[in-house]
Amino acid sequence: MSTAQQSPTEAVRRYQLFIDGKWVDAESGKTFTTPNPATGEPLAEVAEADAADIDKAVAAARRAFEGKWSRLSARDRGRLLFKLAGLVESHAKELAALETADNGKPIRETTLFDLPQVAENFEYFAGAATKIEGETIPVPGQMFNYTLREPLGVCGQIIPWNFPLLMAAWKLAPALAAGNTVVLKPAEQTPVTALELGKLIQEAGFPDGVVNIVPGYGETAGAALAAHKDIDKIAFTGSTEVGKRIAHAAADNLTKVSLELGGKAPNIVFADANIEQAVSGAMMGIFYNQGQVCCAGSRVFLHERIKDEFLDRFKERAGKVKVGDPMEQTTLMGPQVSEEQLNRITGYVDVAREEGATILAGGGRPDLEGNLQKGFFFQPTIFSEVHNKMRVAQEEIFGPVASVITFSDEEDLIQQANETIYGLSAGIWTQDITRAHRFARAIKAGTIWINTFNVMNAASPFGGYKQSGYGREMGRHALELYTQVKSVWVDLSGKPMGWYGK
Ligand code: NAP
Ligand code: MG
Repeated sequence: MSTAQQSPTEAVRRYQLFIDGKWVDAESGKTFTTPNPATGEPLAEVAEADAADIDKAVAAARRAFEGKWSRLSARDRGRLLFKLAGLVESHAKELAALETADNGKPIRETTLFDLPQVAENFEYFAGAATKIEGETIPVPGQMFNYTLREPLGVCGQIIPWNFPLLMAAWKLAPALAAGNTVVLKPAEQTPVTALELGKLIQEAGFPDGVVNIVPGYGETAGAALAAHKDIDKIAFTGSTEVGKRIAHAAADNLTKVSLELGGKAPNIVFADANIEQAVSGAMMGIFYNQGQVCCAGSRVFLHERIKDEFLDRFKERAGKVKVGDPMEQTTLMGPQVSEEQLNRITGYVDVAREEGATILAGGGRPDLEGNLQKGFFFQPTIFSEVHNKMRVAQEEIFGPVASVITFSDEEDLIQQANETIYGLSAGIWTQDITRAHRFARAIKAGTIWINTFNVMNAASPFGGYKQSGYGREMGRHALELYTQVKSVWVDLSGKPMGWYGK
């Protein structure tokens, strides 16, 4: 079995940019290094795109869109996506290992969640390609009116580092199914698997230029893509702060935009909840992927009657989470993605102390051996005695840090749960079916989980209320982000238009 210390990726890997179906160096000749966050050692040397490369990639995507790609039938687009899904499945093992090496998330997660979801998304949208339909509208008079649902054109897509390959799939699959071409910028921390996907896209036989992959920094490559005058749409997942910048850049060109941004989800445990089930849900909500999840259940609301019992178990279970080498099958938490993220989390521990919260579990770095000492690990952490107005209850920490708030009154709970700039998701734990559905309506968020958490499927929409963004990814709704509607009018009378007489 491979480990982070003796990884199969020991030799530093090298990647170029994928533009117009070819692997090319950056125009500037620059490269950057992506480290393995478990050890801090270099994993890959990657060509660094900037504005000049973005120009080339957008031009290639434009040529592909106006050329061969637009003449391909929906069935053929679907078949290419099916082929890609199959290639992802047959390369799942190595892709999972590379994802773990680049991001730090446990191999158990990449194998059992990320990779299967990637394949599922390509498959779902492969099937969707032939179901993108217009409508006939019952208009008055001797007229026939119908709609065409057409692709937008060239789509810029900027993705984050927390689910690198899965975010690429969420973005690429619906865009390609609908007949668009794409310029994709992966996150600087985790470019490797998106570039590996480029190889599979080539192997599947997508025409040159349909997908272009241009890793680089946000301020250069990302900003140039978002502000590009020849893209028709920009899709972004990441922080709310950068999301606002993307929206500004898009506004200047009136580029269509969809945003999937941060969250501070309430994970609400009522007194009648199955406590064991709810504790496992609180763990899933905040420790999964080291807490680097936009829909993380980072605010745990506990009914005061069950508070002590719940916290005893939550604390005990948090202490047992195996933190360590992400390449080991039994590891439940790997390192945070970067030193920057680690420092951000450590900073919030100080904030919590200053604000008067209690550190019930974790709060520091674990003791690990060997190369892992240089990794960016943090303990599963629980802050109790938190009030909803504290910074640790309002700001996205993006780490394995739960803020526990107690409640007794339902009306007050609804108000507190909704008292956040975000609205991506929420969890509700109760045995009372009417209360569960009442709360599902009352919480202002794009996804509600009842007696479960972090469940997703390619067929079900995902996206934010409020400052968590606009647009819905996955499911039928994602096709709305990548198509536009054309209304066509046909006169059936064969007569001159009466308005001006003869
Ligand atoms: P981020 O800056 O929002 O990064 C997301 C993506 O946007 C990356 O590809 C990034 O490129 C790019 N980007 C950055 N600045 C840009 C700009 N001015 N114009 C265009 N693109 C730009 O996120 P981060 O700095 O990696 O993480 C900071 C915080 O964001 C986290 O602590 C967390 O709170 C939040 N976050 C949320 C999600 C989510 O899923 N909602 C995901 C990641 C992070 P580079 O990687 O090259 O900078
Ligand atoms: Mg990396």
